[in-house]
Amino acid sequence: MTEVRTLKVALLGCGNVGAQVARILIEDADALAARTGARLELSGIAVRNVNAKRDVELPQELFTTDADTLVKDADLVIELMGGIEPARSLILTAIQNGACVVTGNKALLAQDGPTLYEEADKAGVQLSYEAAVAGAIPILRPIRDSLSGDRITRVLGIVNGTTNFILDQMDSTGAQFADALAEAQRLGYAEADPTADVEGHDAAAKAAILASLAFHTRFALENVHCEGISNVSAADIAAAKDAGFVIKLLAIAEKLTDADGGEGVSVRVHPTLLPREHPLAAVRGAFNAVFIEAENAGELMFYGQGAGGTPTASAILGDLISAARRLVLGGPGRTETTTGHVPALPIDAALTSYYIGLDVADQPGVLAKIARLFADHGVSIEIMRQTIHRDAESNVETAELRIVTHRASEAALAATVEAVKGLDVINSVTSVLRVEGV
Ligand code: NAP
Repeated sequence: MTEVRTLKVALLGCGNVGAQVARILIEDADALAARTGARLELSGIAVRNVNAKRDVELPQELFTTDADTLVKDADLVIELMGGIEPARSLILTAIQNGACVVTGNKALLAQDGPTLYEEADKAGVQLSYEAAVAGAIPILRPIRDSLSGDRITRVLGIVNGTTNFILDQMDSTGAQFADALAEAQRLGYAEADPTADVEGHDAAAKAAILASLAFHTRFALENVHCEGISNVSAADIAAAKDAGFVIKLLAIAEKLTDADGGEGVSVRVHPTLLPREHPLAAVRGAFNAVFIEAENAGELMFYGQGAGGTPTASAILGDLISAARRLVLGGPGRTETTTGHVPALPIDAALTSYYIGLDVADQPGVLAKIARLFADHGVSIEIMRQTIHRDAESNVETAELRIVTHRASEAALAATVEAVKGLDVINSVTSVLRVEGV
């Protein structure tokens, strides 16, 4: 019988995800060895408090507070501490010592990914981070490997479970944002400080990663235009519903070509109206999904749990086995291609449709006035619908106008909305939301 090699695995962090990774490494050791061609020996677990109670019962002798020594003696390092430091320094130490690294730390990758990727390239080791985007969903490897012979044109992702839960709650119960957020916090879907989720920062970090892999160019967080959901009102949701749409927080990365044939990538996160029959509209609760459009493959959708200890551990193990197999076979780590060299476009260059809700005076000629103003700004209207409301007491009639435009540049749309606000027949602009999938 040929002798099976043993690879030492250092685990940094034993929280929600780390504890499940440790459990699987121990419980499934034989199956993992058979699939890897090497035994994956958990050599230690670095934590802050070695005596803390864990979600899983694990051998006490594995725990240490000396992460540095643990990392220096490992073939593979799994970083699940979160945060910037000491995670960043420990990953760099691991890379410089020739270890492959697996991490789920999107905050660190968004802040300092390029340094880490370059160091891994130089050292010829693998740095994998499938768990950093959409938890359990295998999405980065399909983009990087399975679709590497295709041209991706657009990625639309629901990549933050907290905001999807809140918007779904608002859509299904009519709740206001604050009440839906409180419910998400009660159920453990939102943190006590929900800023990173509700303001779109978490989704923006993931958008930068998705765009980088899809368009073979490194995009940073500063290239991502980001708007959260805290301004989405129950009235916006109700109006969207009435018009056959659902509101989702989307991470969008798409390639655009200007009139002179110049290419660029628009990377953005914002609340977006989707037709209720769009596949992403069916993504309910805290689930995640990523919808990809590629020149040859056409449309693809990946759906599943975007967070949680055990689902995320699945993605970590997948990366670990892939890196371990490479160590067994020999050869340098697999690196991302960065040959795209497409510039990131400012938000003004994005092409999108708008949904605009207007409270207007009920007078003859109003619709024509508004339609002319849109035409003057080069924005064409796809749908214009008017509903008349009569106040029972005063008997005064007001008209509610809902407009969906064709795709136009963000700059033209923003200028149109500004001009509409100045019309004497407009009482108020009740909502302005971007639309995809029409
Ligand atoms: P967590 O529950 O907060 O666990 C963090 C662990 O790291 C704890 O065991 C903690 O030790 C340890 N740790 C933190 N700082 C340390 C330090 N300075 N020195 C030594 N140990 C330290 O975190 P998590 O939810 O498992 O998330 C881990 C990573 O996965 C994060 O980057 C997160 O963004 C990412 N991720 C999480 C999910 C999810 O669903 N949770 C999904 C996708 C990606 P003590 O226990 O002793 O305090």
